[in-house]
Amino acid sequence: MSQDVLKKKPGPLGAWNAIPLWQKIMIGLVLGLIVGLVFGKSAGVIKPIGTAFISGIKMLIVPLVFVSLVTGVTSMRDPAKMGRVGIKTIGLYLLTTAAAITIGLVLGTVMAPGAGVSMEAAKAVAPKAPPSLVSTLVGLIPTNPIAAMSNGNVLQVIVFAILFGLAINMSGKAGEKVRDAFESLAEVIYKLTGIVIWFAPFGVFALMAWTAGTYGLDLLLPLAMVILAVYLGCVLHAFLVYGGALWAAGINPLRFFKGIAEAAAVAFTTTSSSGTLPVTMSCAQKNIGVSQGVSGFVLPLGATINMDGTALYQGVCALFVAQVFGVQLSPGDYVTIILTATLASIGTAGVPGAGLIMLSLVLSSVGLPLEGVAIIAGIDRVLDMARTSLNVIGDGMVATLVAKSEGELDMAVFNSGRDAVGELEA
Ligand code: ASP
Repeated sequence: MSQDVLKKKPGPLGAWNAIPLWQKIMIGLVLGLIVGLVFGKSAGVIKPIGTAFISGIKMLIVPLVFVSLVTGVTSMRDPAKMGRVGIKTIGLYLLTTAAAITIGLVLGTVMAPGAGVSMEAAKAVAPKAPPSLVSTLVGLIPTNPIAAMSNGNVLQVIVFAILFGLAINMSGKAGEKVRDAFESLAEVIYKLTGIVIWFAPFGVFALMAWTAGTYGLDLLLPLAMVILAVYLGCVLHAFLVYGGALWAAGINPLRFFKGIAEAAAVAFTTTSSSGTLPVTMSCAQKNIGVSQGVSGFVLPLGATINMDGTALYQGVCALFVAQVFGVQLSPGDYVTIILTATLASIGTAGVPGAGLIMLSLVLSSVGLPLEGVAIIAGIDRVLDMARTSLNVIGDGMVATLVAKSEGELDMAVFNSGRDAVGELEA
């Protein structure tokens, strides 16, 4: 049944379908917040609805990344173009991440969130030893691509998909049939994505009610300044850095933010940028007009390595811990924090709470006490919501800029301001 038919239908379902998806998601978010605050921990009974939604989008990740990346590579037949897109993507990811951590450090200094916080009851958390760079790079090559897919190892799937796509391009006539098959498969997977995303407002509602019910105000108030600093930093970074970059490239930032809103809201409630990837890809292609090739290449990479929100959070938290424990940081320490937080954010998996584990790496790089991680742990989910949203918006921003620079941003789609993610029919 098409969306148009549903829209014309009188009755509650017709009225519901007539509301744009991003508005329905916002309704879910606000209602969930209210239900969580009113019912407290018992609001957790509806969490399974949220878990079902998360499972649904996770189900899409491996097939979506593989198929869309293969079609991304086959649509960019020119290897020079692929190299160019790759360099631009990684360059923009690194630049925006460094800007994010700088904003985090400035806010951590100006707002001094750790002043007056007592550190009682904090238990030390053992740091996780980071893997070496060489083993990380070698580990990118899957010894068994099917195992990489079944384990959900997105980076390995990315490597296999790029090589597979290149091989299709090099296979002449035989490759053409495979390319056509992948293009059809991509359409089917995008349709499946649309079906799962239809449930987003309900999933968002349930997850928000559970989060608000679990983290009541009593838990949040003592650390209100850290929360404020991270949220304010995310908003500033989105509007100043992303808004500024888009504006400089001649792209209307407000239209971009509206186009990415559904992905940001899903990231906010699921706290997983990898999990949000299917929604981010739909927003980029259907609302913003980024080509399939560019979004298939830039976004899966971003969901695993580009984490501006995580970097910003690590900047704020490092200063918070320094203030709580009265440690004086030198200018050299600040540089070390910028470097390690950038690397840590690249190494952070796009899953809930991963940034907290990497925080121990940043703290130990400048000799800050790891007990700090335990203080943050109590409220980490709330910080994770903001940073994951920023992570996802950042991926979308880079995809938009790269697409624009390659002449692959469909301005007719972008300017239409349509909310096409919510439409089930093509
Ligand atoms: N949850 C974040 C993400 O998925 C990672 C983090 O914990 O910072 O993007």
